[in-house]
Amino acid sequence: MSEIGLAKKVETLVLFLEKLYSVKFGNVGEDCSRWSLIDCANNTCSWVGCDVCSHWCHAACGIQKNLIKPGPSLKGPSGSTEMQLHCIGCGHASEMFGFVKDVFMLCTKNWALETLKKELDCVRKIFRGSEDYKGKELHLKADDMLSKLETKMVSPSDACNSMIQFFN
Ligand SMILES: [Zn+2]
Ligand SMILES: [Zn+2]
Repeated sequence: MSEIGLAKKVETLVLFLEKLYSVKFGNVGEDCSRWSLIDCANNTCSWVGCDVCSHWCHAACGIQKNLIKPGPSLKGPSGSTEMQLHCIGCGHASEMFGFVKDVFMLCTKNWALETLKKELDCVRKIFRGSEDYKGKELHLKADDMLSKLETKMVSPSDACNSMIQFFN
């Protein structure tokens, strides 16, 4: 069996065991470059995943490894770019704006102040290198909300509403 074939089989087995026992083999504190089959990461922007395969990595690691970067827009006008996660598993580029939007639309109401600040910081970092208008706006918005929260110029619930309005 080829190395890739074997890796694929092991990965399938790991996924099967995770589903069976409802556990996660990836560890948030550890290097996520090889095994990051975290299944419950859809309520945070600190883990980003591939739309096609089951590879996930910390947003911070993705940024550090230059896997989160602008790429040719998949749906937008030709020649435009958008922030994407470039998967080390399958090479697919997953669009980040929609991912972050979904997380915020679904989860902000449950976030305490510390979580909200952590998520905003993450969004700010993911979109820092944006070349497109939407991505740049989101970077600025997250940055602005974060500093307003830190100086107590807005309440957490106002910040959440403001983010939801931004995405609508
Ligand atoms: Zn990592
Ligand atoms: Zn992938």
